[in-house]
Amino acid sequence: MENLAEEKLEAKKESLSFVEEIVKKDLEEGKNGGRLQTRFPPEPNGYLHIGHAKAIAIDFGIAEKYGGVCNLRMDDTNPQKEDMEYVEAIKKDIEWLGFKWGNILYASDYFQQLWDLAVELIKRGKAYVDEQTAEQIASQKGTPTTPGTNSPYRDRPVEESLRLFEEMNSGNMEPGKMVLRAKIDMASDNMHFRDPIMYRVLNMPHWRTGNKWNAYPMYDFTHGQCDYWEGVTHSLCTLEFVSHRPLYDLFVDWAKQCAGDDQPLDDNRPRQTEFNKLNLTHILLSKRNLLLMVKEGVVNGWDDPRMPTICGFRRRGYSPEGIKAFIDKIGYTKFDALNQMSLFESAVRDDLNKRAQRVSAVLNPVKLVITNFPEDAVEVYQAQNNPENEADGTHEIEFSRELWIERDDFMEDAPKKFFRLGPGKEVRLKNSYIIRCPEENCCKKDADGNIVEIYAELIPETKTGEANSNMKIKGKTIHWVSCKHCLEAEVRNYDRLWMVENPRDEISNYAKEQGKERIGIEEMRPFLNPNSLEVKTAYVEKWLATRKPLDYLQFQRIGYYNVDPDSTPGHMVFNRTVGLKDTWAKINK
Ligand code: ATP
Ligand code: MG
Repeated sequence: MENLAEEKLEAKKESLSFVEEIVKKDLEEGKNGGRLQTRFPPEPNGYLHIGHAKAIAIDFGIAEKYGGVCNLRMDDTNPQKEDMEYVEAIKKDIEWLGFKWGNILYASDYFQQLWDLAVELIKRGKAYVDEQTAEQIASQKGTPTTPGTNSPYRDRPVEESLRLFEEMNSGNMEPGKMVLRAKIDMASDNMHFRDPIMYRVLNMPHWRTGNKWNAYPMYDFTHGQCDYWEGVTHSLCTLEFVSHRPLYDLFVDWAKQCAGDDQPLDDNRPRQTEFNKLNLTHILLSKRNLLLMVKEGVVNGWDDPRMPTICGFRRRGYSPEGIKAFIDKIGYTKFDALNQMSLFESAVRDDLNKRAQRVSAVLNPVKLVITNFPEDAVEVYQAQNNPENEADGTHEIEFSRELWIERDDFMEDAPKKFFRLGPGKEVRLKNSYIIRCPEENCCKKDADGNIVEIYAELIPETKTGEANSNMKIKGKTIHWVSCKHCLEAEVRNYDRLWMVENPRDEISNYAKEQGKERIGIEEMRPFLNPNSLEVKTAYVEKWLATRKPLDYLQFQRIGYYNVDPDSTPGHMVFNRTVGLKDTWAKINK
């Protein structure tokens, strides 16, 4: 194991993140007996989002790379908000990202052990039951520069605390009436040391432990001990936990002492290391906000392609490889930042360029008649699936006299620099011929003056693959589908859900102005993009009916799309993943 780890370390010469440097050094120094164990600890109170993907990538990625193990641990200490549905979704998303856990563990598996530890701490005079209200406790906290005040219950007899602690779990106590607090230091510089709450009364069943518990442990009294009992060596989390770290270490020390082990922990303890959160422009994270948007119908569920959830990103057509490439690019640092969505999109485009199958779809159609091609004739061509990857092969497309092309590809009064169709202009039809519009009578209009048909002639010797003329034209290559052979499809063009760069800050500032403490749906609404979804009926080539949900596609000249899970061969649905170029920057100048 050590040799393998060393070999891998040797092979990796590029710059490592500071987290990886720490892990690498610990392994080199033989800490933890050369073991590496991490965990990813989601609270199953919602679906995972792109921020979690960053944590997943390092928790699982680093274990995989250095021959360690990463467990998936559900941080299920709050039955008010948690649900089995979320557990299943979390597992699916991690697998989709391409990671494997060692074991699936639950914080609730440790409820008895945590309870016993709490009892032992009461006995040792390190914890007490406080009967004050949450407001009273908060008012005694002090400030970072002024000490707090001791609770009047702080020095109550051990027996009393033991009895009341039992009562807290009896099911007969009102939630909020009492809490168990650690007796540390109300004057500590670290606010988390000012007698933090260890247990609270919730009086509700837990989806895993049923009615056994009515009092539940707090995050801070759970996380470190779970890490310690499981043998986690590196506990990676985000920067907001920096100030919790001393408490994390203290509770681990206490757990060890209470188990009758007074040896110092030294290297054999879990070490918490914090890195910056992922945050992107034009998206709003946090499961609480996302749940609100789902409940209020702002989006169509957790996997709406506009959601920043992993399932939303999957449905939108971003690939796991593209997501991971982006996370690699932004790296892990010790300061929070807001990354540009355009950086994410560019990473995704690079990835999709390699894997998307090229097809033709006409989103805004107008008919083109090839006047010198016979009515009933059909030509069949082999269209390359992906010029970036020969191995992807080809598929058949049909050419006939009447084609759909994009309305934008024709202009009656075309300026000189318009290199598409217009009177006397030439273009190449992708995979087919060069065609030329006549100077006169090149289109037909309806009574309202709308163009309904465009006329052109093909130039026989310019056929793709067989060209025996080296005719060069100024016009571009345009895409098309054969009217007789194409299919209708629903195309969902998604755009950014939020109009502002930093919805998190803008919404919370607005909420403050409105005198709201927490953001609600009404504070979100003014910032939503009213045009985040445009549904169109398009004509697409018929090969698309053979594509499966989530397949990656490029609608040539338009953008990257994928097959929506709602799609059936009889009613095809495609989602726009991202345009071919960054158009947003231009529009919003
Ligand atoms: P949210 O507030 O968005 O619901 P959370 O931190 O409450 O997120 P958890 O389920 O508790 O979500 O988090 C599981 C792990 O994912 C934690 O280690 C947490 O630090 C990490 N994580 C959460 N959000 C981000 C983010 N934006 N970037 C990187 N890691 C994150
Ligand atoms: Mg949370």
